[in-house]
Amino acid sequence: MSIAPEELAAEIRAQGLIVPTAVSGVVAQGRGFAEVADALVAAIRRLTAGVGEYLRFGAVMPRDQAVAMRYFANFPQLLGSIHCFCGSDAEHRALLRAHDAGEPWADALPPVELVLTPAACYPCYAILAARGAVPAAGYRLQVDATCFRHEPSDDPARLQSFRMQEVVAIGQPDAVVSFREHWLAASADFLARLGLEGDVAPADDPFFGRAAAVMAKAQRERELKFEWRTPVSDAARPTACLSANYHLDSFAKAFGLRFDDGSHAHSACVGFGVERIALALFRTHGMVAEAWPVEVVDLLRLEGTPRADIR
Ligand code: AMP
Ligand code: ZN
Repeated sequence: MSIAPEELAAEIRAQGLIVPTAVSGVVAQGRGFAEVADALVAAIRRLTAGVGEYLRFGAVMPRDQAVAMRYFANFPQLLGSIHCFCGSDAEHRALLRAHDAGEPWADALPPVELVLTPAACYPCYAILAARGAVPAAGYRLQVDATCFRHEPSDDPARLQSFRMQEVVAIGQPDAVVSFREHWLAASADFLARLGLEGDVAPADDPFFGRAAAVMAKAQRERELKFEWRTPVSDAARPTACLSANYHLDSFAKAFGLRFDDGSHAHSACVGFGVERIALALFRTHGMVAEAWPVEVVDLLRLEGTPRADIR
C-alpha cells in the first residue's frame, strides 16, 4: 500500500488531501489530511502529557523576542515580519491614491510589534523569564504553535506555514541534555509505533550568509542538533520529521533566565513537524486513513471520527 516518495505529491493532490494555492509551500488541507493532522496533534499531546505546563501559541510572537534570539541575524531569509496600516484618514486616502495610480504603497504599512513564529518554543522563554529566577529543578513545558518560514518550495514536505509541537527543558546543562536524549528516543519510538521507519542523524540549521558554513560546522561538532528522518517526498533525501536541539545558554542569556546564584540556565527542545509526520503516514500506509493498520488507527484514535460529508 506504500507509495514511492516521488509519487507522493501527485497522489495526495489527486486525492484532494492537499490542495495547492497560487503560492509555493502554502496549501489547504483537505478533510482527510486535516483529520490525521489533528489526530496527530492530540496523540503527541497525550504522549507528552506528563512533561509540564502546556502552552499553545498562535502564528505570531513579539518582534523584540525574535530579535533578542538573533533569528533575524542567523535566519533573515526565513523570518516573516508583520506590517500593518496604523495611519490617519488622510494617510489612508494617500495610500489608496498611490495604489490606484500603480505606485508603490507598501510603505504605508510599517512593521508592527509582531513577527511570524519561526519555532514553537521561541515565545516561551520570555514568559518564563518574567516569572523571576529559574527554580533549581528548572522548567519543563509542552508547546504547540503554527510556525512560518519563508522557504517557498513545491515539495509537499516543505511548507511556509506548518504546525510544530515541542517539549522544552530549561535547567542545568546535564539535565536538559538528558531530557533531549530521553525525548528524542521516546518520540522516535512513538513514530515507530505509527509504523514509520526512520533514522536519527546529526544535523545543522540553514544559517544565512558568510558565517553559515562555520556555524553549521560548529553546531555539528558540538552535537547541538539531531533529526529523525524518513523518506517522504524524495527517496534520496530523507525528510526531518523530528528535531532535537540543545541551545546551550544562548536563549537563556537572551532573556536573562538565571538561577538564584546568578548563573544562566541552559535549554533544549524536541520538536515534531505535524504535517511532515502526516505525509509520512499517508506515504507509508496509503491514502485512506480508515484502512491503515489497526495499531496506527488506535494510537491516533482515528476511529469514530464524524464523517459529516459522507452521504
Ligand atoms: P527545526 O527547528 O528546523 O529543527 O524544525 C523543527 C521541525 O519542524 C522539523 O523537524 C520538521 O519536522 C518541522 N519543519 C521545519 N521546517 C518545516 C517546513 N518548511 N515545512 C514543514 N515542516 C517543517
Ligand atoms: Zn524549540
